Amino acid sequence: MQGKGPRYCPSIEDKVMKFDKQSHQIFVEPESRFSQEYYLNGLSTSLPFEAQIGIIRSINGLENAVIERPAYAVEYDYACPDQLFPTLESKKIENLYFAGQINGTSGYEEAAGQGVVAGINAAAKFKGMKPLILRRDESYIGVMIDDIINKSVDEPYRLLTSRAEFRLLLRHDNVHLRLARYGYEYGLISQEFYSSVQEIEKEVNLNIQRISRINVYPSAVNDILISYSTEPIEHTMKLGDILKRPQIPYEALKKLDSIPIQNDEIAEQTDIYFKYGGYLKKMEDEVKKMKKMEEIIISDGFDYDQVHNLAFEAREKLKKIKPATIAQAMRIPGINPSDILNLSVYVNKK
Ligand SMILES: Cc1cc2nc3c(=O)[nH]c(=O)nc-3n(C[C@H](O)[C@H](O)[C@H](O)COP(=O)(O)OP(=O)(O)OC[C@H]3O[C@@H](n4cnc5c(N)ncnc54)[C@H](O)[C@@H]3O)c2cc1C
Repeated sequence: MQGKGPRYCPSIEDKVMKFDKQSHQIFVEPESRFSQEYYLNGLSTSLPFEAQIGIIRSINGLENAVIERPAYAVEYDYACPDQLFPTLESKKIENLYFAGQINGTSGYEEAAGQGVVAGINAAAKFKGMKPLILRRDESYIGVMIDDIINKSVDEPYRLLTSRAEFRLLLRHDNVHLRLARYGYEYGLISQEFYSSVQEIEKEVNLNIQRISRINVYPSAVNDILISYSTEPIEHTMKLGDILKRPQIPYEALKKLDSIPIQNDEIAEQTDIYFKYGGYLKKMEDEVKKMKKMEEIIISDGFDYDQVHNLAFEAREKLKKIKPATIAQAMRIPGINPSDILNLSVYVNKK
C-alpha cells in the first residue's frame, strides 16, 4: 500500500511495525442476531486475501472461519480546508459550504461539529443574519475549524483535547453557559430554555458573591472538616475560602450557608468556581500571553531536544522545518498549542 492510512485507526500491519508487543486483543463482534457473521474489531488490514485468511485461522477458535468480505485499506481524498472561510463557506465558490471528511478530518464528532456550523451559516447567509464563528476559547468546534482552515491538514485531522489550549474553559458542565446564546440567536433553542440558562448564570454569580462574604467559625465547621480528612481551621474563615479545598463539596457545608442553594446545577457551578477559580484565572492570563508569543524569535540552531514535554510528532516537525518565530511554529500542522506553550517558555528562558 502506497498511501498513508489513518493515524488514529492503524491497521494490524501498522501496529506490528509501530509497537513492540507479543500479543494483541481482538473483539469478536456479532453483526446480527440472525446471521453467523462477526466483525473482528482490532484487525483492520490491507494485506492480501491469502494473508488475511492465514491470520484469522491462526487464532484459537477461528481455525475453520470463512471470510465473507475481506478487509480493505482506506485512503483519504479531500478538498484543502485552507480554501474555506471560518463559516466553512468556500472562498472560491460563493454559497458552497464544506463540512466533514471532505475537509480532511476523520470522525463522527468532527463531521457533526462542522455540519452544524456549515448548516447554521448557510441558513444565516440566506436569511441575511451575521455569520456564526466560534472562538477557540469558547468551543472545541472553534478549535477544530480554526486549526483546519489556518494550518490546513496533511493527514486525517482528529479533534483531540490536547489541541485546545484553553481546555479548562471548555467543560461539558458549562457548555450551555458558553453556547446557549448562539443557539438562541440562530433560532435553535427555545426562549424558555435560554431564559433558564440566563437564570442559572445570574444565580451562580449572586451565590459566589454571597458565599465569599459568609463568615464561618471553627466550632461550626471543624467536625465536618475532620470527617472529610482535611485540616480543622483555627480562626474564622470565609465560606468561599473553605470551599476551595478539593475534598469538601458544597453539599457538606450547605448547612453553614445563610441561604442554602437548592438547585443542584447552581450549586455545582458555584462549587466549581471556588474550587477551580484560581486555575481559570490563570487560563485567562494564558489567553493574553499567547498573543505576545507571536512576536518571540527562535534563534538559528535552536536545540529542540532540550525542551521538555514536547510531543514526539511536534519535536520531529520543529527540527525539520526550523521555524523562525513562535508564530511560524504555531502554523505548522501537527504542532499543538500545548507544545507551543512549552516551547515558548523555554525560548523565553534562553
Ligand atoms: C472503517 C472505518 C472505521 C471508522 N471508525 C470510526 C470510529 O470508530 N469513530 C469515528 O469517530 N470515526 C470513524 N471513522 C470515520 C468516520 O466514519 C467518518 O470520518 C465520518 O463518518 C465522515 O462523515 P461525513 O458525513 O463527513 O462523510 P460520509 O459519512 O462519508 O458522508 C458522505 C455522504 O455523501 C454521499 N455522497 C458522496 N458523493 C455524493 C454525490 N455526488 N451526491 C450525493 N451524495 C454523495 C456518500 O454516499 C455519503 O453518504 C471510520 C471510518 C472508516 C472508513
